[in-house]
Parts: sequence; C-alpha cells; structure tokens
Amino acid sequence: MMTDISHVDLTTLPSDIWHELSSYLDTGDFISLAAVNQSLRRTITSDYPLLSSLLRHRMNLKYSSRNKRTPYEEIVYRIPSRRCDGCGGMESKPSLIKWNAMFQKGLCSDCRRSQKFKMITQTRAISEYQLDHSDLSPLRFSYAGHSFNLKRRPYYYALVDVQEVSRAKFAARGTTFEDEKRKAEERRQERILHAVNERRRNLIWELGAYGLEMDEDDPSMSGFIEHRATNDRPKLQDIVQQAVRRHYLDHHIPLEEMIKHVENFGYNGRIEDRSVWSVGRLQTVAFGIIAKWEKEWVRNMYMRSDVCECGQKRYFQAIFDKWCDEYDV
Ligand SMILES: [Zn+2]
Ligand SMILES: [Zn+2]
Repeated sequence: MMTDISHVDLTTLPSDIWHELSSYLDTGDFISLAAVNQSLRRTITSDYPLLSSLLRHRMNLKYSSRNKRTPYEEIVYRIPSRRCDGCGGMESKPSLIKWNAMFQKGLCSDCRRSQKFKMITQTRAISEYQLDHSDLSPLRFSYAGHSFNLKRRPYYYALVDVQEVSRAKFAARGTTFEDEKRKAEERRQERILHAVNERRRNLIWELGAYGLEMDEDDPSMSGFIEHRATNDRPKLQDIVQQAVRRHYLDHHIPLEEMIKHVENFGYNGRIEDRSVWSVGRLQTVAFGIIAKWEKEWVRNMYMRSDVCECGQKRYFQAIFDKWCDEYDV
C-alpha cells in the first residue's frame, strides 16, 4: 500500500534534514516552498544557518548582521539577477547570466550553448536552409555583433524558427529539406563533371589546332582539366602556349647540332666557353630565332624544311645558320 505523503508534515523536519535537502533543491525552490503555507514559511524563513549557507555558497554573497534585509529577503531580492530565463536554473553570480536581445531573456551558459537558443545569421539561414528573404520576413530577428558599420551588422534569427520555416516550406512542396539538399548536391557534382569534360574537350580542340595531342600524364594539363588548384586556376590559352613551347623546344630546334657545334668549337677561342652555351640558353636563343623568323620562312617556298609529326614545317638549317650569324659562333 502506498504511503499517503500528505501526512508528512514538512514543518516538523529537523534543521539538518533541511540542510541535507538543500543539495537537491534550487535556491528558488525554498522560496516556492515558503509560499506554500504560513507554517512552512515560518520554518524556512527562521532557519538562519540554512539561509546564510545558501547566500554564501549558492549566491556568492556574504550576509552581514547589519543588513537591513533578513537573509530570506536578501535571497528573494537577489534571485532575479541570477535566474536563467531559459531553464529557470540559478547561477552563483549575476554576471554569468547574459542578456539575449533576440529571445528577450537572460540566459545561463548551458542555455546559451543549447540548440534551443542557437542563432543563425540571415546569410547562413538563406543558403543552408534554402530559404529566401520573404520566408524569413515573418520571423523575429535581432542585430548582433559589434560591427561599426550599421549596414553590415548581420541579422540574426533563432535557429529553431529557421528550421521550422524551412521544414514547412519543403513540406508544402511535398518534399523535405534533406531530400532537396541531396538533389542539390547531385546537381553540383553533375555540374563539376560537366565542367571537367568541357575543359578536356576544349583543351583537346585547342591543342589539335597546333597539331598537338593531349597528355593526361602532363601535370599542368591534368591540373587544368581537374581544376585541382583552387587558388591559382590556369587559363586554357596558357596551358596551350606552354605545350606549344615545350613541343617546339623538343622537336623544332636543331639542339643536337648546336651542342655538337659548341663542343667542337667551344674551346678554341672561336665561340664562348661551353658552360655559357648551356642547353637552356641554346633552347631559349633558338626559340627566339623561331619566333622572329618563322613567318618569313613559311612564306618562302624555297626554304629547306621537313615536316614534323605536328604537321608544321621545321627549319633546322635556317635556325642553325641564324644562330651562327647573329651570335657569331
Ligand atoms: Zn539556463
Ligand atoms: Zn612539331
């Protein structure tokens, strides 16, 4: 059989039981208990050791006997500034309760971190929950942050409000936010794939105009296609020009003959020392000669030339002669 608890008379509880109970009760609970009836009120308000212990340990206050308020009145007086409007819990110091203009509540640190009182900027609400300004317009909002530029002070909304508006909006369309988000991600991946294919096609086409082929193993070409570098995205024309230059250096320059020439005549005083005519310099100089003369050579149908795999003529003899002539080697 259950004990009828109305038979327990709280007013007859010994003081040490009240002290024991105080570890289970919020300071405000004592105030509520004191409001139950006259005798309970007398019991609690006259328990000075209990009340001063609550003042000292729970509210961080020293109670002086010169105080005009009784310990009980002091507690009642001090509670509002320590009370969290979110959960009703008490903080030991008023400074731990922070005013939140959005919710119009003083909140403890637990509540400030909780999902219930989370805030979200307008920009994030719109992008992350796929809303627009009109969806947000019925919601309460607040300015927050400390930007001096009033126009740029972000609007904040309550996350719970934003989530609810978003849920209702998608429900009205017979879908859910998660579903739409997944579809949007699929579309994004498709766009990326499409863009990659587009870049590959363009690169193949542009290289083809120079008789060159794409090389998937070439890091600059594959980097261009995949857009791996996010900060420095190379342009198609740059990639093509690099490829053309590399091809000319490898296939359109009589490098072997030039090196042989330097080796044969480099030490007898006729031309500069071999180290000065490094492979790199030979290439640069020959490339410069091509850039300067090729057009003229192409027009000259009597020019001695053979055809490279790229379909362009190459002028080994003419480059070699120009080099000897212009650089006196
Ligand atoms: Zn709280
Ligand atoms: Zn070629």
